[in-house]
This record gives sequence, C-alpha cells and structure tokens, in this order.
Amino acid sequence: MPDAFADHPTDTFPATDRGLAAYTTLRLGGPAGTMTTAVKTDEAVATVRKATSEGRPILVLAGGSNVVIGDAGFAGEVLLLRNRGVEVVAEDAGEVVVRVAAGEPWDDFVAYAVRNSWSGVECLSGIPGSAGATPIQNVGAYGQEVAHTVEAVHAYDRLADEQLVMTPEECRFGYRASVFKHNDRYLVTAVDFRLARQDLSAPIRYAELARRLGVEAGDRVPLEQARQTVLKLRAGKGMVLDPEDRDTWSVGSFFTNPVVSAEFFAELTAARGEIPNWPGADGTVKVPAAWLIEQAGFSKGFAGTGVAISTKHTLALTNRGGGDTAALLDLARTIRDGVQERFGIELHPEPVLVNCDL
Ligand SMILES: Cc1cc2nc3c(=O)[nH]c(=O)nc-3n(C[C@H](O)[C@H](O)[C@H](O)COP(=O)(O)OP(=O)(O)OC[C@H]3O[C@@H](n4cnc5c(N)ncnc54)[C@H](O)[C@@H]3O)c2cc1C
Repeated sequence: MPDAFADHPTDTFPATDRGLAAYTTLRLGGPAGTMTTAVKTDEAVATVRKATSEGRPILVLAGGSNVVIGDAGFAGEVLLLRNRGVEVVAEDAGEVVVRVAAGEPWDDFVAYAVRNSWSGVECLSGIPGSAGATPIQNVGAYGQEVAHTVEAVHAYDRLADEQLVMTPEECRFGYRASVFKHNDRYLVTAVDFRLARQDLSAPIRYAELARRLGVEAGDRVPLEQARQTVLKLRAGKGMVLDPEDRDTWSVGSFFTNPVVSAEFFAELTAARGEIPNWPGADGTVKVPAAWLIEQAGFSKGFAGTGVAISTKHTLALTNRGGGDTAALLDLARTIRDGVQERFGIELHPEPVLVNCDL
C-alpha cells in the first residue's frame, strides 16, 4: 500500500526548533519538547511507558488531522505513531476479521478493504489520518461509523501498565466520542474490524449519498461505486486532503452537531420556524451545526486573520497560509458566540485541543 505519511520526516530528533505545524493538516502548532517516531508497536509502548514512569507529558500524534495545537507547541514528548500492518486474523465464508496497526493510514486500509470485497467501511472513504485514531472519536461519515465494524481495540493502558484487548462495549462509542477521547490513559496499538465478505456495500443510509448513487435508502451498491461516489462528494466539500487546496487545511468539521432535548427543540421551532434536524439517541434531537452557523450570519469564506471558513463547507475552519492557532481559535469563538446568541445553543469543538482552548 502507498504510504500516505511518506512526506513526514520519520527520524527521532530534539524537536525544539521544529514546529508541530509540519505534522498537522491545519499546518498549525508550535514546537515539541522532543519527538520520537515509532515504526513498531513495541517502540511505541516503550516510549509511552518510559515517559509515564518519568512523569513526562506525552502526546500521541498520528495523521495530525484532528488536533489543534497551540502556538506555544507542546513542551513534553510527542510520539509520532507509524507502526504498520494489515492482517486477517479470523475468517469464514461470510466474514473476515482484519487487524490493522494503529499507524496504518486509514484511507489506504479502506481502499484495500474495497479491493478485497470486504464490506462495511466503504462510506468512510477519504477520511484522513490513521486507523488507530478511528476509535478515538468513533469516526463517521455518510451513514457509517467505525462502531458498526470494530470488533476489538488493542491498547496499552498507561495506568495499569498492561496491554489490553477492549470490546466495543468497553470502548463506549457514542457520536464522535468514546472512552479514548480527551483521555490519554490509552495508546491504541491496533484495531480489529469485522467486515462482510461481499461485493456490495452495507445498506446506504445517508440520503445525500443515496441520491447521488440514484438508489433508495437501504439499497446496496457495488463497493467501488460507493467508495468513488463518497470520494467525489467529499472532494466537492474540501473534505479530501489536497495540499494545493487551502480549503482542506483543516481538521474537517470544527464543531460537532449539537444534540438538544426534544423540549428545547420544540420551543426553538415555535420561536424560529422550521429547523433541519435528525433524531438523536434517547429522544434527543441533533441539529446540523453548519445550518446554525449559516443562519447566525457566518457564510462560507467568512475570514479572520489568515484563517477562514472554508469556501466549500461551513463547518471547516481553514488556515489560508498566514494563520496561527490563536487566530483560528478567535474565529471559532466568534462563530460559537454568534450561534449561542442567536439560538441559545452551544457549539463544541470536534478536534482535540492541545495546549490551547476555546
Ligand atoms: C479534511 C478532513 C476531513 C475529515 N473528515 C472526517 C469525517 O468525515 N469524519 C470524522 O469522524 N472525522 C473526520 N476528520 C477528522 C480526522 O480525520 C479523524 O478524526 C481521524 O481519525 C484522526 O486521525 P489522526 O491519525 O489524524 O489523529 P491525530 O490528529 O493524530 O490525533 C487525534 C487525537 O487522537 C489521539 N490519537 C491518535 N492516535 C492515537 C492512538 N493510536 N492511540 C491513542 N490516541 C491516539 C491524539 O493524541 C489526538 O488526541 C477529518 C479531518 C480532515 C482534515
């Protein structure tokens, strides 16, 4: 498989003079104290164990596509995770369980699964970053999320100093959430996915994707067709990394879609008229953050200093080239406060904020 991280240096070096910007899709972030690259799982575990026993802070970084790192950087040790490998660990006529090393580029794995007629992750095509980061926020798009296919997560537990195999229940997956998010207790070393052996996709759940494919929701389509259609839809929104396209210098969606109570939503629609929504868990209502942002007066291209809302997608905050993290967070605050003022709904950031805050 091609190495999507190949452009990143992979040596171990004292990183005080090198910005972490080079390792994030936003191209933002100050220097690291030290940086170690681990190409083997044992090296990664040993690095985390050593930092823990010496009481040094450590930041695990893989594709850098879901982190906002402060301009002052991270004074501790940065572990750059680059362990690789894809292995079938169980199979029968109908299913396959595939173990994917955490440092494996996610989209390379999705392409590999599609080529092998393994069905279940095709709608997650084009998402940047590593396989090991997908359980962290239960990565999802176009009607699929990894919680649908994760069989087990292999992790090193810093607290207990032991390697674990965690069940999906133990991962406590939710909407862009899991036990791993905002929690540096675990280093994910590999993920097992249970995929169906078939040439057709899982049932298409997402209305926009079904429309583009010309099928009804619930239908299945050939895997490669699902992948290519998702890639096209994503590219049109600046959601596939392209170094030439500043609209993709982002963390994807900056805000999660807020989830509100049914009572609050009823009051809001009574006051403001119809509002797009999806049913959330336990009778709650999920409201599209992009719609709220637009209605609050922030349209595509709305700019701060060197940073702006993507010209292709209202939810993506982008570095136009001259920005820094402080400017990006200023822009995010302006948007968050505008939505709060207009609708009384608080937007929450989707990426992990490192040494900075909203
Ligand atoms: C253009 C674009 C589009 C995107 N589209 C989507 C989308 O459709 N859906 C979606 O859900 N996300 C999306 N994202 C967000 C992002 O790609 C995913 O969250 C991805 O899984 C992050 O992977 P990463 O390797 O880059 O993680 P990083 O950014 O390196 O890390 C993110 C967080 O996870 C932690 N972490 C990473 N790896 C490990 C590990 N092995 N063990 C423990 N902790 C770890 C880090 O410490 C950090 O806290 C998008 C991002 C971009 C830039």
